[in-house]
Amino acid sequence: MVGYNGNFPTPLAEHHKCPCCSYALRDPLQTECGHRICKECYADLQRKSGKTGQIICPVDGSIVLPHQVFPDMYAKREVLNLPTYCMYRNSGCQWQGALREYEEHIVGCEYEDIRCPNGCNQRLPKHLIEQHLLQSCPRRLLQCEYCKTKIPSEELQDHYDKCEQFPVDCLFNCGAMKIPRRLLQQHHESECPNAVGACPYSFIDHVAL
Ligand SMILES: [Zn+2]
Ligand SMILES: [Zn+2]
Ligand SMILES: [Zn+2]
Ligand SMILES: [Zn+2]
Ligand SMILES: [Zn+2]
Ligand SMILES: [Zn+2]
Repeated sequence: MVGYNGNFPTPLAEHHKCPCCSYALRDPLQTECGHRICKECYADLQRKSGKTGQIICPVDGSIVLPHQVFPDMYAKREVLNLPTYCMYRNSGCQWQGALREYEEHIVGCEYEDIRCPNGCNQRLPKHLIEQHLLQSCPRRLLQCEYCKTKIPSEELQDHYDKCEQFPVDCLFNCGAMKIPRRLLQQHHESECPNAVGACPYSFIDHVAL
C-alpha cells in the first residue's frame, strides 16, 4: 500500500510526502542520505533494482544499501498526527481528525458514494440509500393495485398496458366502464348491447387496448 491519500486542509509539507508515490508517508523509512520514503515504496524500488537490495535515492540519486535504511518513528508519528478532512467533505461530511483515524472513518463514512444495491446504476451517499430504495429507486418493487403482482417501479406503466386486471372501458361505448381487461372479450361477446351484429375482433384488431 502506498502513502496516505488524505484530504489535507493545507498542502502536504515536502518532508511528510513520499518522493515515490507523492502521498503522505506510510510507515516511513529514512535513508542514510536523510530522505524519507514509504516502507512499501522502498520495497518496490528494491524489487526493481535487482538482487543486491540497493536502491538509488529518488531525491538525490545517491546509492543506498539495505543497512543504510531505518524505520523513522518520529516521522511516522508526525504524519499520523496530521489533521485531515474526510475525503467526502464535498458531499457534506463534516468529519475532521488526525490521519491515524482517517482510514477507520472512511470505512464507515455515511457520505461515501455507493452504487444502488438494487442495480439501478445510480450512485449516491450511503446515508441517502435507504430513502432512495424506499422512495425513488426505479427498480424498487411496487405492487400493481389491480393484480397485486410486484413490479419494478420503472416497468409499472408498461405493466398497466397488459395487466389482465387493469380496468378498461367497453370498446363499443355501451356505457360499461372499468371492466377488468381479462373480461372485456367476454363482455363484447355476450353482454354488450352495442356489439350485437358487429364483429368485435375485426374492431379490436385496429384499436390498441
Ligand atoms: Zn510512498
Ligand atoms: Zn537521498
Ligand atoms: Zn466522512
Ligand atoms: Zn436504485
Ligand atoms: Zn397488474
Ligand atoms: Zn359494451
